Amino acid sequence: MHRLAKLDHAYVWHPFTQMRDWLQREPILIVSGKGAVLRDLRGKEYLDGNSSIWTNLHGHAHPKINDALDQQLKKIAHSSALGLANEPASLLAAELVKLANPSIAGSVGPRTRESQIDNRKLTKVFFSDDGSTAMEVALKLAYAFARRTRGIKKPKFLSLQNAYHGDTLGAVSLGHIDLFCNAYAGLLFRSDTVMSPYCYRCPFNRAKPERADAREYRKCNWECVGKVEQRFARQQKRGNSYASFVVEPLIQGAAGMIPHPTDWLRRVTEITRGHGAQLIADEVMTGFGRVGQASRLPKPQVDASGPEWGRRDACPTFFACHYESVQPDFLALAKAMTGGYLPMAATLTTQAVFDAFLGDYEEFKTFFHGHSYTANQLGAAAGLANLEILQSSASRRARAQLEQVLRNELESLWSLPNVGDIRQVGLIAGIELVKNWRTREPFDLRERAGNRVCAATARRGVLTRPIGNVIVLMPPYCTTAEQARQMVWALQEAIAEVFPAERGIR
Ligand code: PMP
Repeated sequence: MHRLAKLDHAYVWHPFTQMRDWLQREPILIVSGKGAVLRDLRGKEYLDGNSSIWTNLHGHAHPKINDALDQQLKKIAHSSALGLANEPASLLAAELVKLANPSIAGSVGPRTRESQIDNRKLTKVFFSDDGSTAMEVALKLAYAFARRTRGIKKPKFLSLQNAYHGDTLGAVSLGHIDLFCNAYAGLLFRSDTVMSPYCYRCPFNRAKPERADAREYRKCNWECVGKVEQRFARQQKRGNSYASFVVEPLIQGAAGMIPHPTDWLRRVTEITRGHGAQLIADEVMTGFGRVGQASRLPKPQVDASGPEWGRRDACPTFFACHYESVQPDFLALAKAMTGGYLPMAATLTTQAVFDAFLGDYEEFKTFFHGHSYTANQLGAAAGLANLEILQSSASRRARAQLEQVLRNELESLWSLPNVGDIRQVGLIAGIELVKNWRTREPFDLRERAGNRVCAATARRGVLTRPIGNVIVLMPPYCTTAEQARQMVWALQEAIAEVFPAERGIR
């Protein structure tokens, strides 16, 4: 075993990893990367099939981001935001506000029927370090805001079944994946949960399984939206209406890449607003163009009465909520904000929330919260370069092409009987493995179907991580058509290797 691998085994404790398993084999130890390719210390190359846990956008060692960091390093790496401002963080905040409010930017803008959505502008940026801290900030601000402006003593939060919003205790409290929450139940506050619109496994979907994305062939009456309405109504009757509804717009990531049917977000936002609650959008995964070019998303299935701007085929924006004309009260961003270079996050919110923290010093309305590296200059410099690339027409074109290539290539996986659902939202794809596609019978988690397939994929030079039985493909935006084909080919071969007897049966 290589000396560095031995050091890893001796000293490093890896996240979300059973270390007993980890210690049984030599780890892949990455030493460099270029574009969509990662290289290990033996010189073996791998395609980065999940953009290094959903962070990387334009590829590794991107010359523009590298250059921005070089330039910033010549000036300063870090000075505190507690008591001091700095150049790249000010510029980045302004840029984020521009992108988060398409109407301010003068490009596309919400022309919705709901004036409350129209008028909501995200104008204030609170920087932090990662997705979890961005959510903690949203949570604390929303909590204090509800207490200060609505007189709610104990503001309550509603979030989705299987929600995941990070690993710090506030974020875990908003989450509903038992495996991550139960062991810490005594440390968490209680948040309520409501059905998530998981069409493939929805008990209200009367459609038999087909070889297509379940959102397209589902037969239902929007019971998932009805459940949200019921939840809000029940809570209102108790005299303690929800302060906030927390969602990952368009697709829930760690829940298993669960895409929401078109119009779900707009509908539940109307309910949320109707009950005077705030909307917290966790776009830690979906932000910065991940949900892709709107024109490629499935058309709404039922009535088409939604706002014009929200039609998914008419909105080239960078954030998932905007595809459905939804402007949240809090927008949590992290992961891809620096192009996958540095840990930096932001929580955007409205002037109204900001104002609730203004007062004479002695009133102690200050938001007493912050981190040592808040508004770090290196992170902000990387973020600015990242956003410039993201908005270039070359990047837009490349993303649209990659999305289409991925869509075409993924079709081939339907020939595998252990593939139950293939769901793609932009440049995010989840492939759910099942025992039997005709019955949707799942694999027991102990069978580690996802892990075994990903290990076989790695042997073919493509790295990704499963979420239980769901394989994730989320290529960096610089991935070429050939590399995308290679990713899907490796996955197809890997599934066929792990489940050999079943190959080719439909
Ligand atoms: N929210 C979402 C939607 C996420 O996907 C994640 C991370 N996977 C987080 C929050 C937490 O982010 P981090 O790991 O950067 O703390």
